[in-house]
Amino acid sequence: MTLIVHKYGGTSVADLERIRNVAQRIKHRIDAGERLCVVVSAMAGQTNRLVEWVTSLDPARYDRAEYDQVVASGEQVTIGLLAIALQHLGVPARSFLGWQAGIRTDGAHASARITEIDPTPLRRCIEAGIVPVVAGFQGIGPDGRMTTLGRGGSDTSAVALAAALEADRCDIFTDVDGVYTSDPRIVSKARKLDRITYEEMLEMASVGAKVLQTRSVALAMRHKVRLQVLSSFEDKPGTLVVDEDEIVETQIVSGIAYTRDEAKVSVVRVMDRPGVAAALFGPLAEANINVDMIVQSVSRDGVHTNMTFTVSRADLPRARAVLESVREQVGFERIDADDEIVKISVIGVGMRSHAGIAHRMFRTLADRGINIQAISTSEIKVSVLIAEEYTELALRALHSAYGLDRS
Ligand code: ASP
Ligand code: MG
Repeated sequence: MTLIVHKYGGTSVADLERIRNVAQRIKHRIDAGERLCVVVSAMAGQTNRLVEWVTSLDPARYDRAEYDQVVASGEQVTIGLLAIALQHLGVPARSFLGWQAGIRTDGAHASARITEIDPTPLRRCIEAGIVPVVAGFQGIGPDGRMTTLGRGGSDTSAVALAAALEADRCDIFTDVDGVYTSDPRIVSKARKLDRITYEEMLEMASVGAKVLQTRSVALAMRHKVRLQVLSSFEDKPGTLVVDEDEIVETQIVSGIAYTRDEAKVSVVRVMDRPGVAAALFGPLAEANINVDMIVQSVSRDGVHTNMTFTVSRADLPRARAVLESVREQVGFERIDADDEIVKISVIGVGMRSHAGIAHRMFRTLADRGINIQAISTSEIKVSVLIAEEYTELALRALHSAYGLDRS
């Protein structure tokens, strides 16, 4: 018998009617002979409300362990309600909190990593013909306290459980019906992909396609868990995330993603000598600020250089402060910052074997008069930084240029 892990996100369990709808779907699958383990998120908006309560009491120095205790509670409500809705339909079901399901994590409260899962309690439950309904997003730390896995973490719970239970697949039910070649709200000709590779999905997730938590994709790739993203409202296949060798017809480019979460920082007229990069980026790293695209331009006098890079918008004020604190010691003229930018990425495993992908991107943007402010590349991705006002124009033009438009 096949064993599938189902995960239902916040919008799929947003109210009682939707919870009943999910219970119906599960009943259909069980009647069709599947064995299931179900993972759920909190009702849509609930986790945000809980986070707000914590941060309103103490914005800066709240106890992260107590934060976890509070924000993990949203899932406790939905697992119980879904178990009751299932029982009401005559489907035996039982709810499990993370610790009851044997999910152990490290002690990094608010962004804990799963270290170990003892699948015995869930296995027993499934073998007894009872559907386990597990709280996503949470586990138990080394000291026995509640932990949470970072926002969007129930995707990761589901994948980790699928790996531990050696499930045949992990189905992520959500409010979209799959992974698209680009954001359909902007690119009306975007197409749903039948399949995408783990690597591509990883890049898509990390540069803004918010359908899966990035960490869950990395975990699925590591443990070779077959993942499917599909709608909890419609009955049709979604997008399968699989190994490259399972993709029959590879596209050179699979998708165009974007993120408005970054800001550009330029350190102007810094002395061009060995050690400046280390002197600037060392303190940023110590402050836990991630730096992404980096461009160093040589100025005409050959003595000074400009160092441009991106940080997340949320980190911009802190990044400024950290850089100001080393200005004397490093020696530079000023810091310019711009948060009206967007990072656009063209992603595809086919890039490894095809030349000219980046050139087509640059040409397409140049033809529209769009200036590129920074570039970065990986083996299967080219990203550029442009002014935010060109987001729509650039996405649509690139989508056409790589032949992704739906006909
Ligand atoms: N409820 C949690 C959140 O909103 C976890 C999840 O939905 O995946 O981040
Ligand atoms: Mg989510």
